[in-house]
Amino acid sequence: MKYFAGIDIGSTAIKISIVDENKNLMGFKISASGSMFYKYAQETLDALISELKLNNSDIAYIVATGYGRKLYKEADENISEITANATGARAAASEFGEIKTIINIGGQDSKAISLDSDGNVINFAMNDRCAAGTGKFLDVVALKLELEVDTLGEYHFKTQGTPLSVSSTCAVFAESEIIGLLGNNHSVADIVCGVHYSIAKRIVKLVKRVGVKEGIYFDGGPALNAGLVNAIENEIGQKIFVPQNPQITTSFGAAIIGVDSYNYENN
Ligand code: ADP
Repeated sequence: MKYFAGIDIGSTAIKISIVDENKNLMGFKISASGSMFYKYAQETLDALISELKLNNSDIAYIVATGYGRKLYKEADENISEITANATGARAAASEFGEIKTIINIGGQDSKAISLDSDGNVINFAMNDRCAAGTGKFLDVVALKLELEVDTLGEYHFKTQGTPLSVSSTCAVFAESEIIGLLGNNHSVADIVCGVHYSIAKRIVKLVKRVGVKEGIYFDGGPALNAGLVNAIENEIGQKIFVPQNPQITTSFGAAIIGVDSYNYENN
């Protein structure tokens, strides 16, 4: 059996997925990108290979994608994260039905990707100019509130009544706005909920640029935040599908593309 690795070197995290020749996901690993993308990607790949009790020689083909993909020189192929994301989403959401739109929120950018009925990318919109509507924004908020980013979702559901309005779109201004809200005795839960709705509103604007359709798939690290999922669903007015491991969709897609590229080159 041959195996195929997809390496997604994101601005915040490195995600690696390994699939077999039938495109089944065998395992994945996530680590921080840090400053040495190449070194950390290699260490993460080696660790995953050994966890799966494979050898490096079992990996027939490596596809790199994401922000730092060009730094991973050992890759057999480099592809855009939009293509890899679309391929991964389609495979991960087979039980959900047809995916028409992908919302991806990463560490430093957010995207809305529109797909045709064959899963091909027909349009996309991206925000990569500032931290608003990205994981970074959530990281800054969590730090200011002295919370771990993976607990924000719980706080979201502790709030009652209308969500607070958090109007700052810049992470730096949001920090001072949060200090002001705390000073006015607003609870941490109300602030977290307000932040989620402020991000959700920006994301819905992004989705509107490619067209709102039924069949929305949400991935990237912030999709692990159930509170943010709830805010986006309420703002967009429909249920959205979040896969079990939303952070690895793009690396999974890259690994799947690796199978096709390898077969094309070797047949
Ligand atoms: P990138 O591909 O740009 O590196 P990711 O899709 O890996 O970005 O997302 C990183 C972001 O995901 C972090 O900045 C953080 O806000 C968020 N995140 C990571 N893990 C969790 C978690 N367990 N719960 C909630 N949010 C998370």
